[in-house]
Amino acid sequence: MTHDTASALSATALPGLAQVRARIAAAEAAAARPHGAATLVAVSKTYGAEVMEQALAQGQRVFGENRVQEAQGKWPALKAAHPDIVLHLIGPLQTNKAADAVALFDVIETLDRPKLAQALARAMDQAGRRPPVLVQVNTGLEEQKAGCAPAETAGLVEQARALGLTVQGLMCIPPADQDPAPHFALLRTLAEQLGLTTLSMGMSGDFETAIAEGATHVRVGSAIFGHRT
Ligand SMILES: *Cc1c(COP(=O)(O)O)cnc(C)c1O
Repeated sequence: MTHDTASALSATALPGLAQVRARIAAAEAAAARPHGAATLVAVSKTYGAEVMEQALAQGQRVFGENRVQEAQGKWPALKAAHPDIVLHLIGPLQTNKAADAVALFDVIETLDRPKLAQALARAMDQAGRRPPVLVQVNTGLEEQKAGCAPAETAGLVEQARALGLTVQGLMCIPPADQDPAPHFALLRTLAEQLGLTTLSMGMSGDFETAIAEGATHVRVGSAIFGHRT
């Protein structure tokens, strides 16, 4: 394959990626926010390295994975080839996987309890690597969902900082059956109260709403890569 053929193919390999980028730009403009205000975290779970190569060929560098083990099988080689990749952990983290997460991920979005803050701090001290973290907030107080309660957020942020973690912001996943806008607004208010600037909120079904509510990072999977099986 000639170089021209390869790039022509890769430019169209993931039409969803171009579409999502255009929708993000439109949502930023509609909210009178600057272009680039919301970073696209391409959620690549269940898709293999070949699909990631297509996204990389289209200039995507920020990715999200929800399982440490799956990410370990896919990303080390890709990161070696593209050192500018920024990999976010967006799924629940067990304390016994903290060291693995610290070694591989560049942002850990799912800090939600003091025990995990302690495990991450220990792992970071040992690794000499300190990826920033976000605190996941369970804005809908759903029993089955990870995240700390809104009322516990300030305390957890303070504890994490006392342990030496770099807390950059907050993350949430609103209840699937509710209007997400009030949840995004709550997350923004909490972040403002705590002086935090990063807001990871919005997925394929609601990222435009999240951008209107101030998201700095949107985590979008199926709208880019297609429906997961
Ligand atoms: C899978 C996942 C996403 C992306 O979901 P889509 O609806 O496919 O865009 C975003 N955030 C988290 C935490 C996820 O697990």
